[in-house]
Amino acid sequence: MRITDVKPYPVWVGHRNQMLVKIETNEGLYGWGEAGLSGRELAVTGAVKHFREFLLGRDPRQIGRLWQEMYRSQYFEGGRVLTAAMSAIDIALYDILGKALNVPVYQLLGGKQRDYVPCFATTRGATAEELVEDVRLLLGEGWTAIRTGIMHPKTGDPQLFDPRASIGPTAAALSRVREELGHDFVLGIDYHHRLTVAEAASFCQRMPSGTLDFIEEPIRDETPEAYEALRTMTDVPFAIGEEFASKWQFLPYIERGLTQFARVDVCNVGGLTEAMKVAGWCEAHYIDLMPHNPLGPVCTAATVHLAAAVANFSWLEIRRSPTERGRFYDSTLFPTQPEAQGDRILLPSGPGLGVEVDEEAVRKQTFAFWEAPHYRRPDGSVTNW
Ligand SMILES: [Mg+2]
Repeated sequence: MRITDVKPYPVWVGHRNQMLVKIETNEGLYGWGEAGLSGRELAVTGAVKHFREFLLGRDPRQIGRLWQEMYRSQYFEGGRVLTAAMSAIDIALYDILGKALNVPVYQLLGGKQRDYVPCFATTRGATAEELVEDVRLLLGEGWTAIRTGIMHPKTGDPQLFDPRASIGPTAAALSRVREELGHDFVLGIDYHHRLTVAEAASFCQRMPSGTLDFIEEPIRDETPEAYEALRTMTDVPFAIGEEFASKWQFLPYIERGLTQFARVDVCNVGGLTEAMKVAGWCEAHYIDLMPHNPLGPVCTAATVHLAAAVANFSWLEIRRSPTERGRFYDSTLFPTQPEAQGDRILLPSGPGLGVEVDEEAVRKQTFAFWEAPHYRRPDGSVTNW
């Protein structure tokens, strides 16, 4: 079998672009993948075009070998753009191999270890009252793992964000959720790497111990030593890693005990090939995967196969709960996609990823430039989105 084409499709779906890649073969089999570098899809498209040149004519079943060539056979190896492109290609190659062998992708990763994939829901409540109602609604519908977001005083300016001002209302809202709704469910928060070490420590210390089961990305992740400092200042488990673009970026976080959940993103870390290596490394340190999955059905499908095949897994992020309004799962563009049932995704049993993409519809879909908000503090200085 030979690769005959590698086609990048950066397309607008709902309110974001999705960076899809289709790989075709001389035997009529094809696979789909997705890259996760949201907001920089054209850079990933360029990287896919570079890789295409040496992938044409190659055997798509040599997935591990092609991964090594894409990562290492250049002087400037790795990085987020190249590895996002590699991730999409790697996932598409697994889709092809699954179809060629007539098995679901998880069968290629060691077979399924669970009957379904448990998911966490994300709330959207902007005040303590709304948050309590969101959590109450989710609990009523059977969800047991819930991730919340940041509260911020109303300013009337969507680009204004004061990290320090967000700490008090957010800590108070989370404490109130526990007071009103109890402790029989998992409660976490994504702080979207917006705090400093001092701010993150203060935030965690303002809540009674046991309020939070995890805090996702309290600070940025370039410096593991910063997390090392923060780790000594709070007992809340950390969930880190959604931006990591290789096992080497996970290395200090796993080996130094800096994260307690691995937020691996199959579409950024280097595809299923690299995600399985991160999973094994985490298993040795008793760390569960809590995969990042903010994108479309292809990313979701790939992550479901990963989740099925690993022993160490907690919950998958999914944008389908009653408190989320994401429109990432367009059924015109993706006529076949992973089947959700309440707080879980069922395992597909068909060959490959189990997701179908309408290429004609995708071709008609336009790309649109999208920028993440450029947040600034009240004094005008730049702060993280
Ligand atoms: Mg996050």
